[in-house]
Amino acid sequence: MAIAYIAFGSNLGEPIENFREVLRRLSRVVTIRKRSEVYETKPYGELSQANFLNAVVSISTCFTPQELLSCLQRIEKKMGRVRKERWGPRTIDLDILLYEDKEVKEDYLQIPHVELTKRAFVLVPLNEVYMEPLLLGKEISEWIRETNDFENVWLAEESW
Ligand code: ADP
Ligand code: MG
Repeated sequence: MAIAYIAFGSNLGEPIENFREVLRRLSRVVTIRKRSEVYETKPYGELSQANFLNAVVSISTCFTPQELLSCLQRIEKKMGRVRKERWGPRTIDLDILLYEDKEVKEDYLQIPHVELTKRAFVLVPLNEVYMEPLLLGKEISEWIRETNDFENVWLAEESW
């Protein structure tokens, strides 16, 4: 079994409900270990759109990284995600942040996730569930300090 960390993001429909639905679907095929609190985040980029909700879940799984990606993409698709503009509104975005200490460098899959250490909305919830002392050579709190957008991430009013 491998331990992996998955980032959840949503700003369309009922984001919390979307998260719950993903958890229900995921828990049929992998073991959910821990989930972070839900955070609210100001959207990235120029588009005017609703705030995002973000969270991170750790799982253990027999899936390979590629199988896990397919599984997450199937869930995104079933939940009606339509790919439009980059950083645009979405029902659900599921990204693999880490998979053990494996490195994957394919066009369609990079692990660790390329933006992992740059995004406060991923690092803040990851910090709650991550088990190791260091993330890619540094403490998570240090990575968080180095981002300049941690003021844009706060605990959401509603939890799951
Ligand atoms: P983003 O997550 O960057 O906002 P998308 O969800 O549309 O945008 O993802 C674009 C592509 O990123 C996907 O088609 C997928 O193949 C690729 N990808 C690369 N690495 C990962 C990863 N670690 N987790 C999820 N998707 C990934
Ligand atoms: Mg994605």
